[in-house]
Amino acid sequence: MQQALEVLQRVFGYRQFRDGQEGVIEQVLAGRDAVALMPTGGGKSLCYQLPAMLLPGVTIVVSPLVSLMDDQVSALKAMGISAGAIHSGMQGPEVMEVLRALQDGSIKLLYVAPERILTPAFLERLQTLQVALIAVDEAHCISQWGHDFRPEYGRLGELRQLLPNAPLLALTATADHVTRDDIVQRLALRDPFIFQSSFDRPNIRYLVQEKFKPQKQVIDYVKAQRGASGIIYCGSRKKTEELSLKLQIEGVKARPYHAGLPHEEKRETLHGFLRDDIDVVVATIAFGMGINKPNVRFVLHYDIPRSIEAYYQETGRAGRDGVASEAVMFYEPNDAGWIWRLFDEQPDSERIRVERQKFHAMTSFAEAQTCRRLVLLNYFGEYREQPCGNCDLCIDPPKQYDGTVDAQKALSCVYRTGQQFGVNYIVEVLRGAQTQKVKQHGHSQLSTYGIGKEESAEHWVSVIRQLIHRGLLIQDIRRHSAMHLAQNARPVLRGEVALTLAKPRLDAIKTGAAVAE
Ligand code: ADP
Ligand code: ZN
Repeated sequence: MQQALEVLQRVFGYRQFRDGQEGVIEQVLAGRDAVALMPTGGGKSLCYQLPAMLLPGVTIVVSPLVSLMDDQVSALKAMGISAGAIHSGMQGPEVMEVLRALQDGSIKLLYVAPERILTPAFLERLQTLQVALIAVDEAHCISQWGHDFRPEYGRLGELRQLLPNAPLLALTATADHVTRDDIVQRLALRDPFIFQSSFDRPNIRYLVQEKFKPQKQVIDYVKAQRGASGIIYCGSRKKTEELSLKLQIEGVKARPYHAGLPHEEKRETLHGFLRDDIDVVVATIAFGMGINKPNVRFVLHYDIPRSIEAYYQETGRAGRDGVASEAVMFYEPNDAGWIWRLFDEQPDSERIRVERQKFHAMTSFAEAQTCRRLVLLNYFGEYREQPCGNCDLCIDPPKQYDGTVDAQKALSCVYRTGQQFGVNYIVEVLRGAQTQKVKQHGHSQLSTYGIGKEESAEHWVSVIRQLIHRGLLIQDIRRHSAMHLAQNARPVLRGEVALTLAKPRLDAIKTGAAVAE
């Protein structure tokens, strides 16, 4: 390993190994299969780049993203390491040149797209070469149980038979136990060395906010960040464009990013973001894998993701430089209800059952009453006792109060308006709003009109959501989420039982905290 340390310092210019790198590299150099589970930014690339320098032959790196490959190849070349890539974005002559260099042994590291490596022509070529190591980056893409299954990864298992002598190294930033076992099995790894580093990202502060007026909440938040870099994830392409436009109107340098945009535009957005010309990218999940930007100060989730893995990976793009950063999720139970319904509409299958479980874990995180970091780490099998002190629930634990009177006001307002309206309208009536809809229904005449005007709209939304959670109000998703009273609302209304509620936590975000520090 003396030699490895020497290469680390001389070629890569690093003083010492990071957590886990040395162990993985040692095993790989000894010819053993390995799995490296390290968080984004943990330094996975070095685990194959360094052995590539020391082992005879060429190291093949399977990587799903063209942009990532090109970045790495140019970074390696800048360090004086001969590297190349083969992917669909290249012209014929370019490919020929790389193949020639491979043949005469002047390439140490070759990046290949998964769909490319398994073509008969390429495989034939591979078998004539001395392959030192095969590294499979983003290895969770091979698993059906991963959150990002890619069919083109499916056949990578064949590599083992085709190149039985080359050790295999699987790398990923995210894998629960099922996914991890699946990676081992599908790549046919032989007694692999497994390294799993801590998944904790202590410099990221996790916050969940009740989604109330999401666009305004996001705009207020972003403006308070004063030009810091951030990513906002939305659940649909349309929303990324709408929100990006709203932010631009507010003077924020924002751009949308999703798979439906022209290639050129996506490239420009990515590069503008990397160069700090663009401050905020409003994106779907299409934006992210392999984005290596150290100074992302915040990642917002406008909509709840489908799994904790996805959430962890997306929020993990914040604070790679180790500086304090924030991950804020806007959560609305109704959104989750909508996703549950989508599940219900699909025929039952094991895949759907797994997705349901994953989503269930995600909603538990959103609705957690104790340290969010503990919930996250538990999910990855990392158990801790101590709350983190750096999430919304640690910083500002929910306060309980006697909510009986609030509950009575809200319940009777639902009752008197005829049990046919959704949350927002009930809040309007409670607060005595003079909207068109209130006038139209003549609800300003009701005894409950304006009985809650001393409290904010946010307060009432929170109260009503808690009543829904507790099963006192029932929301009918087939009738535009209109609410009606459940049986157990009656004793509360009649004052026979008291009800403890949590104070809404709407001011929990310390806006600008990330830039202030
Ligand atoms: P990952 O692939 O795990 O997301 P990378 O391999 O891109 O992470 O590494 C993240 C950053 O850490 C890179 O900028 C890399 O140069 C740096 N890095 C990796 N190993 C070391 C090390 N031993 N010492 C210092 N910096 C390192
Ligand atoms: Zn905490």
